[in-house]
Amino acid sequence: MSHALIELKGITRSYTVGDGQLTVLKGISLSIEEGEFVAIMGPSGSGKSTLMQILGLLDRPSTGQYFLLGHDVSGLSDDEGAALRSKTIGFIFQMFNLLARTSALDNVALPMIYSGAPNRDMRAKELLQDVGLGDRLDHAPNQLSGGQQQRVAIARALVNRPRILFADEPTGNLASAQADEILAQLELLNRSGITVIMVTHEPEIAAHARRVIRIKDGVVVSDERTERSRGDAGGGTAVAPPRQKASASPKFKLETPDFSFGEFKEYGASATRAMAANKVRSALSMLGILIGVAAVIAMLAIGRGAQKAIEARISSLGSNLVTLSPGATTRGGVRGEAGSGSRFTLGDIKAVAKANPHIVRVDGNVQGTVQVVYKDKNTSTSLTGALPVYGPMRNSEAYFGRFFTEDENLRLARVVLLGQTVVNNLFGKENPVGKEVKINHIGFKVIGILPIKGSSTFRDQDDVVIIPLYTAMKRVLGKLYLNSIPFECDSPETIQQAMEDVGVLMRHRHHLPQYKEDDFSMRNMADVQAALAGTTQTFTLLLGMVAAISLLVGGIGIMNIMLVSVSERTREIGLRKAVGAARRAILAQFLIESAVLSTLGGLIGIVLGITISLTLSTFAGWAAIVTPEAVILAFVFSATVGIVFGFWPARKASLLSPIEALRYE
Ligand code: ADP
Ligand code: MG
Repeated sequence: MSHALIELKGITRSYTVGDGQLTVLKGISLSIEEGEFVAIMGPSGSGKSTLMQILGLLDRPSTGQYFLLGHDVSGLSDDEGAALRSKTIGFIFQMFNLLARTSALDNVALPMIYSGAPNRDMRAKELLQDVGLGDRLDHAPNQLSGGQQQRVAIARALVNRPRILFADEPTGNLASAQADEILAQLELLNRSGITVIMVTHEPEIAAHARRVIRIKDGVVVSDERTERSRGDAGGGTAVAPPRQKASASPKFKLETPDFSFGEFKEYGASATRAMAANKVRSALSMLGILIGVAAVIAMLAIGRGAQKAIEARISSLGSNLVTLSPGATTRGGVRGEAGSGSRFTLGDIKAVAKANPHIVRVDGNVQGTVQVVYKDKNTSTSLTGALPVYGPMRNSEAYFGRFFTEDENLRLARVVLLGQTVVNNLFGKENPVGKEVKINHIGFKVIGILPIKGSSTFRDQDDVVIIPLYTAMKRVLGKLYLNSIPFECDSPETIQQAMEDVGVLMRHRHHLPQYKEDDFSMRNMADVQAALAGTTQTFTLLLGMVAAISLLVGGIGIMNIMLVSVSERTREIGLRKAVGAARRAILAQFLIESAVLSTLGGLIGIVLGITISLTLSTFAGWAAIVTPEAVILAFVFSATVGIVFGFWPARKASLLSPIEALRYE
């Protein structure tokens, strides 16, 4: 091979401590060949770990050059370092650094997630068997002894078939029997072709290596080969399988693999683990999103219900309807020409009908308050005299009995239709149709009951009686003129033109000179409808905004929890990076975690919101309509909140330097 595996030239490393600089490595130059077993020795604090972190690409030298496989790696980016670590380097730490609450199997398989290697579980199982832990696959670290944990760590270090194995005081936390086992493992691995670089401060441990480099005060003080022969290694319990010798033409791949399904599964699992480990905290942080989403759904449902109710009421009054009334419109609060009220005659009805071809129906109404008596009961109600078109124009066809006819109108027949309130007041449960009532002392026959319209805020629309127009004018109210002429157009688009034509016609019929204002006014039901719809829309928007604010608050809650989670799991993040996780992978992990948190909150919130809506409409009688759009909106919103508010903490986690994260207390 033309290059040494590792070549350091004048490596220094200084730390900024307080105001000063602490130079730990002061120009280290050395080279290590493939297949060596090197022990780096030195007193505590001499910079062994610092050197090893630089060798393992976890840290960067302050000055100097580092060639790995002949390539200068001193200036690699974070992610390039991660990719190279993932393919080439395995780590064994003094503190084991296994993921808590995670099975031995998953711990071993972890680096393969980041390298994108296939058959993870099979390989991890194989390696655990090699290190003698075939029967401990499902044990979490806290269910294993120190020596067993370190063997899991060895298996993890080997999982991506590294060419170099770094071990920082691998036996420092172990009893001597366990330490011997670990050392035997390392020797076996070295014999199978892996370069082993081990840091230790104990000469007995270093004696297992074939080369010992001593450093002191940041410089190499000695570098010698030991007399250890290849044949006399102590018998280990496990037998590492022979490894293919690393190829002579080294592959130097730095690109990170694409996202795989396995990665997502792992992040989902780690999110679930993190949430399960902090159930109460997770539940509380979900609460914000949950309430927000439930509020959005319930508010939108109520708003939508109110809108529908208003629409239904308005359409029950008739559509495309314009009411022509005498008297000028109020303009700017001043009523033009007070007292000069115009009068509508029966002739005006016929004229209006001809004013525009799009006018399809014309009615003429008179109104008055009357006393209606049935047997010993009486009630005061509002009477309307109308033409038979009233029924179809106002959606007021008799729902029981019949409406009156044109013939009855012409004959001044004494027939009446009663609104539901009048029926209730006079008849109770009795059927009124066919009975005789007295209206202002005149006998009338009840021929039908009007459909229920419900009460608006202003008046009870069912507290009415309707009789033929002529009968009302001549027999009951004694009126010569009409109170209003409602007319109906064939479509909403033709209303405007029809109103203009009727206006011109009425001015002409009333002989109004140019300078005079109209002595009549027209009210378009479509305008009223639009105004009301606008009101409910504003109302819905307002409710929606209140709900959105609560979602925002929920999002901030999630962010808060994620920040706590990141700092709590700093060491875990450091470890993941050390075994090859790119920034992107850490970012994805925490984003998925916060998205899972908020989406779960969102889902529960949707269920709660729908329940609230149904409860309100069932028990409180509020119209509440849950639309699929509202549900989708709430869901998308909650997931978005998770991702948006999770981004900052996730990014913070992804930017941690692996070694600082690993050292985090
Ligand atoms: P050891 O040889 O015991 O492994 P280290 O390489 O861990 O020693 O540390 C060498 C020296 O560098 C120590 O004196 C330590 O205090 C210092 N040091 C290590 N890491 C940092 C850091 N992040 N900031 C400041 N000083 C550090
Ligand atoms: Mg150390």
